[in-house]
Order: sequence, then C-alpha cells, then structure tokens
Amino acid sequence: MRIEIVGGGMVGLAFAIAIKRSLPMAAVRVLEARALPSGAPSPLDSRATALNLASRNILDSWGIWSEIETLGAAIKAIHVSSRGRFGSAVMEASDVGELALGYVVENHYIGAALLKLADHDGVLLEAPAGVTGIDVSGPSPKLLRGTESPIHADLVVVADGADSPLCHHLGVMMARRNVGQRAVAANVRFEGTSVGTAWERFTGHGPIALLPLPDDVTGRQRYNLIWSMHPDESRAIEDVADADFLDALQRAVGWRLGRLTDVGRRTAWDLSRIAVREQVRAGVVIAGNAAHTLHPVAGQGFNLSLRDASRLAQTLTEAHAQDETFSSLPVLRRYESAVAKDQQETTRATDFLATLFRSRGFLLNLPRDAALASLDFLVPLRRSIARRGTGKGMDLVHEAGH
Ligand SMILES: Cc1cc2nc3c(=O)[nH]c(=O)nc-3n(C[C@H](O)[C@H](O)[C@H](O)COP(=O)(O)OP(=O)(O)OC[C@H]3O[C@@H](n4cnc5c(N)ncnc54)[C@H](O)[C@@H]3O)c2cc1C
Repeated sequence: MRIEIVGGGMVGLAFAIAIKRSLPMAAVRVLEARALPSGAPSPLDSRATALNLASRNILDSWGIWSEIETLGAAIKAIHVSSRGRFGSAVMEASDVGELALGYVVENHYIGAALLKLADHDGVLLEAPAGVTGIDVSGPSPKLLRGTESPIHADLVVVADGADSPLCHHLGVMMARRNVGQRAVAANVRFEGTSVGTAWERFTGHGPIALLPLPDDVTGRQRYNLIWSMHPDESRAIEDVADADFLDALQRAVGWRLGRLTDVGRRTAWDLSRIAVREQVRAGVVIAGNAAHTLHPVAGQGFNLSLRDASRLAQTLTEAHAQDETFSSLPVLRRYESAVAKDQQETTRATDFLATLFRSRGFLLNLPRDAALASLDFLVPLRRSIARRGTGKGMDLVHEAGH
C-alpha cells in the first residue's frame, strides 16, 4: 500500500498521520515543496488557529493534545459587540458545559507537534520535494517530478493548498465565490493581561475578530487579529506605519481591552470561497484547502479537514478489513459521502457568518432599536457553533432563524 501525500501543510500532515495510524502496514510519504521551517517566528509575527472541541478530541486520540494545550490559550468566553451600538453578548464556556469554547494555538506549534508525531509513527517526509503533475491515465496514479523519475502510488492525497495546482492539472472543476472583501491578519498587543476572551466586533468597515494568544515575555495581552473589510479600505491601511495602523484599529475596537501598544507583520488577501466539484477519483483524494477553502471568519478550515482526515482513515480501514481495494473509486466515493454532510453544513455556516459579518450585511441593516440589536441572538448562534465543535451537531442556520 503506497500512499503519497502532496503538500506538507497542517492538513497534509494530519491526513498522513490519520492514515498511518489506521493502516500501520501502509508506506505513507509526504512530499512538501518547501524546505521545512526551522526556529519559531517572533511572538508578534506568528499565525494561529482556533481549534474546536472536536479537533481537541482527535488530537487527544493521537496523544498530542496535552502538549498542544500547554502551548495555546483556552477561549473561555466570546464577547460580541457592535461599534456605535449599546449592548453586547457574552457567551461563556459554561453555556455548553465545557471548560473552553476552543483553543487558540500558533501554527508553528501545531505543525511541530504533527511533524514529530508523523516521524514517530513512521511517516516518511521529503522536503523540499515539489510535485509538478499527476498522471491518472494508468491503473494507478503517478506523481511527476520534473526531470526526476515519476513516483507510482496506490493512493495520492492532494493537499497542496488553495487554488490547488494539482487540481488544475487534473482538470478538476472548481466553484469559486468572491466574497467581495479583503482580510488583514496580524498579531497585536494591548496593555494589561489576557482573561481568555475572544472578541468579535462589528464596525462600519467590517468585522474584527481578536483571538487570545498566550501572553509572551512582555506579559501584555496578545491577540491574533483578523479584520475583514472592503478591499479599497483594506489597501488604504494594510501598509501604513505601525502607529497609524494601531490608531485605526484602536478607533475601531474602542477601549474595552485597553490601549493597543504593538502590531506585528501584517498579511492581507482577498477573501474567496473555493470548492472543488469532485473530491475523489480512482486512486486520488483531494483534501484541505485544495478541496475547500473557507472564509477564515469562522475558523473552520483546519477543524473540518481534521474530521475529513479521520473519516478517510476510517473508510480505508473498513475497506481493507473487507478485502476491498482500498484506493478504488467505490471505496473513495464512500469517503466522499461520509464527509459530504459535515462539509456542506460547515460551509453553509461559514458563509452565513461571512454574510453576517459583511459591513453592509444583514446585522448592520437592522433598525437601531430592533430587539436583535442587543446581539443576544448571537448567543444561540455561538452556542450552536460550540455544540457543532463537540460533535453533537446542530443546524446553525435553523437555530439562528434562517
Ligand atoms: C488568516 C487565517 C486564519 C485561519 N484561522 C483558522 C482557524 O482559526 N481555525 C481553522 O480551523 N482554520 C483556520 N484557517 C484555515 C486553515 O488555516 C486552513 O484550512 C489550513 O491551513 C489549510 O491547510 P492546507 O495544508 O490544506 O494548505 P496549506 O497550508 O496551504 O499547505 C499546502 C502545502 O502544500 C505545499 N505544496 C503546494 N504545492 C505543492 C507541490 N506541487 N508539491 C509539493 N508540495 C506542494 C505548500 O508548500 C504547502 O506547504 C485560517 C486561515 C487563514 C488564512
């Protein structure tokens, strides 16, 4: 059983681990185009992921949660407010009977834990090792690597990221939806110490999400910022001097968290949702951002992919136990069916939040005195997200009355 994973991002590594743990006899290899990162970014330049409770459970079953947990920050509450309006909503972890609503962990820590586990489990990793194409004309797929000899595989997992070059090479159709917004991400520090609250604030320019990060040596509260806004507004501030950026952000978030003191390297990109029209072919599975790139506002992309990885591993194990060819199209179609509902619901919920978060979206169009303006209705919304995270599964859109 030769399984090749193209792309050694967080998702490629997660698929490799999930498969290898379920089928220890399989030869699983990850081919990553870039050299592996070494060292850690400065605390103001790191990127982070909010892991939900279902992801916590998967990482726990792999034995790496306790290590990851100590490096991250627990989200004990989510505070939602709207600039220029009274009222706010707070959702506490206790609302769903949990100690945390999720955990924010910097990507370099997640990546390092996955790499260590992959190595421990016997997954081979080649980096830098770029794949230039894929040939599916024969009975099993072949990975092309420029002038080097091709690699024959029984199963290829394509995890080469958003707008996947290999999917283009395979001629896989993609549905693309431009969200009409641009997002700026950066880490920021405020005076004072963090209390483990995530902040979401609607402003006239667009929504701001601040996820708590563990305090660094400065002892000041550190947050991962994602600020979505109209592309023109974003371009006007994303490259300004730090002091000007902090001024603009302080005006937008207000003073509830105290004075903003620092901002790290900023990255900005146009938001779009991309979904491939087929996620499997005989001997091929498309995974992670290559399969579904979601708006980052709901922090669901990696969480969803971890669940996909577990389901693929389960499907392959069951097929192997029944003496089926584990990489055949009927088996992989079973995987596609197994993930379809979760993917549809997660995408729908993310799209709904993205619409809600749009500056001229439905929330800000409400009359000022509407009962909903208190934002209380966001509590059931948040609760449903948290419940989905625990795997209890609730229809977010129905619960929010849509
Ligand atoms: C700002 C932001 C915040 C987010 N926050 C959250 C969050 O809080 N929670 C959450 O669950 N999700 C979040 N997401 C989504 C999450 O980051 C993605 O779903 C996830 O990182 C996708 O990982 P990936 O491995 O599929 O893609 P990538 O991380 O893009 O990795 C693809 C890898 O493939 C390699 N590669 C590409 N081409 C080739 C080739 N030809 N040969 C070999 N290797 C190749 C690349 O070098 C790269 O390493 C966020 C996303 C953004 C942008």
